[in-house]
Amino acid sequence: MKFQLGVSYYGNRIPWRVREDLEAIRQAGCTYVVHTFSEQDLEFYAGAMRQIIADSKALGLEVWLDPWGVGQAFGGETYSQLIAKDLTLRQIGSQGQSLPIACPNHPAFRDYLDRWAETAADLGADVLFWDEPHFSIFPEPSAEAAVSLWACRCPVCQELYHERMGGPMPDRLTAELRAFKEDCLVDLTRRLCEKTRALGLKSAVCLLPFESSSTVNDWEKIARIPELDILGTDPYWRPRQPDVAAFVGRAAARIRGLADRHGKAGQIWILNFNIPKGEEPKITEAVEAAAAAGIRNLAAWSYYGAGYIKIGSEDPRKVWETLGAAYRNLISA
Ligand SMILES: [Zn+2]
Repeated sequence: MKFQLGVSYYGNRIPWRVREDLEAIRQAGCTYVVHTFSEQDLEFYAGAMRQIIADSKALGLEVWLDPWGVGQAFGGETYSQLIAKDLTLRQIGSQGQSLPIACPNHPAFRDYLDRWAETAADLGADVLFWDEPHFSIFPEPSAEAAVSLWACRCPVCQELYHERMGGPMPDRLTAELRAFKEDCLVDLTRRLCEKTRALGLKSAVCLLPFESSSTVNDWEKIARIPELDILGTDPYWRPRQPDVAAFVGRAAARIRGLADRHGKAGQIWILNFNIPKGEEPKITEAVEAAAAAGIRNLAAWSYYGAGYIKIGSEDPRKVWETLGAAYRNLISA
């Protein structure tokens, strides 16, 4: 089976400058590019994005768009203005605090995401990439902290909880509340996949690889969504996973099993940021471990070792060359 190989791209919005990066992406063996498409892009750069997307396709790249940091409820190293303009969209923490992240249940946030998807389709995207949907993630230094500090108890969530569970939302994170939160994220994802399919595009979802009450832990609930096409995760090994092949291999096997059972394509994200000088060979190990587990769709975050942003790798050129060599090796194997 043919490999689908991608890389994410962000930052530059000057189409005639982006073109040379797109050529480098094609030469690295990529078949697709994941363009970040933030709130700022939607508001100010849609015209540039239309050109960048057309240029990507002219080079033979499939185009994915990512709601990068939108409402902060998806992954992304960027800001959200949405949650500053309309404070009612914000998640409310268990201690009553307003949090800088949009509530996945809020109808106005869901409307915004519909508009985002419609614009993405109009600009020419092939795949919409629903990346790491989550509630506010708190550090959980102790069992007590994990049940006393959580979100969201905004009026929308409280009403939904009452409707579904037949009682008031508790103050502490019970097993029922945890399940409710997970089902809310599944519901949002299902709705986004349905919308994407209705627009004639494909959907990809990336699930965070760690257990948390603020993410989806039962991946089967996402794999089961009929309108989902590509199911993935991002087993980034830094800073806590020294055995890269084992860590990536486990995540890849889990995705492969679910994808096969539910007729989806399985995808694994490869760490290409925050890589210290000298650790570049671990990229090859990760790519090979995912491929050995039967994954045929791989993507790296991000282009050129992310060397132009704070989370960049120490030797971004080396990271990029290592990824390209690993990709080309897969294609020729
Ligand atoms: Zn809420």
